[in-house]
Amino acid sequence: MSNSGTLYTVSAPSGAGKTSLVKALIDTLSDVQVSISHTTRAMRPGEEDGVNYHFVSQDTFQDMLAKGAFLEHAEVFGNWYGTSQAWVENTLANGGDVILEIDWQGAQQVKRLMPHTQGIFILPPSQTALRQRLTGRGQDDDSIIDGRMAEAVSEMSHYVEADFILINDDFDEALIDFAAILRGQRLQQGKQQQRHKTLLQELLK
Ligand code: GDP
Ligand code: ADP
Ligand code: 5GP
Repeated sequence: MSNSGTLYTVSAPSGAGKTSLVKALIDTLSDVQVSISHTTRAMRPGEEDGVNYHFVSQDTFQDMLAKGAFLEHAEVFGNWYGTSQAWVENTLANGGDVILEIDWQGAQQVKRLMPHTQGIFILPPSQTALRQRLTGRGQDDDSIIDGRMAEAVSEMSHYVEADFILINDDFDEALIDFAAILRGQRLQQGKQQQRHKTLLQELLK
């Protein structure tokens, strides 16, 4: 497992910007992939099966759960979400970093199962900004937004369980900080020893 990539969980209250930040990170940094979760929630306008999520029925989700297909799973806002164990393991084994965009319950489960996981928590600059972003995204009606705002404070209290905190005020700055976390991890001695094995052998001749 010495050549293995690093596993990250990214958690945040809905609307804090995790999907936007993860997407921007994947577009700017190589060797990092985001896991596509399975979910029983309805597809939003503009979403695509297999791109944003694998959209499945309750029955399919339960079948997969029974077969042990999920590394973690959780019920969030009345819908079920789960992370594919096989995909995460294979991607890490091939040396790639993996990001799981999952809620705090999932992040707790993953940290217990895989203690080297690095937890990242994204916070908005204010509650007002959070509501504005949920409204501005234009994908959920008012009752859903009210529900998500009501959940936001208890969700945010879980920041203490994370290894890193990102404040998503200025988007570009938050993106730089996000990339810095992954870049920093990659520079650890053990990882660099693996990556630059040949160079180190040459230098120490
Ligand atoms: P969003 O909050 O606007 O991104 O809305 P979504 O419906 O996409 O996600 C709702 C919640 O489910 C968020 O807190 C996600 O982090 C969480 N979530 C998504 N996929 C998974 C998963 O595979 N496992 C777990 N535990 N949570 C997930
Ligand atoms: P999440 O995945 O956490 O629910 P999104 O990534 O969908 O959040 O972001 C919610 C909304 O806020 C989107 O419309 C996005 O464009 C916007 N947004 C994200 N980050 C910022 C930011 N730093 N400043 C202003 N708007 C932002
Ligand atoms: P999504 O939620 O689908 O990932 O992002 C929606 C759109 O908003 C994307 O085009 C994303 O790049 C954009 N976006 C997210 N945050 C910001 C921001 O702070 N400033 C600007 N200009 N665009 C943003």
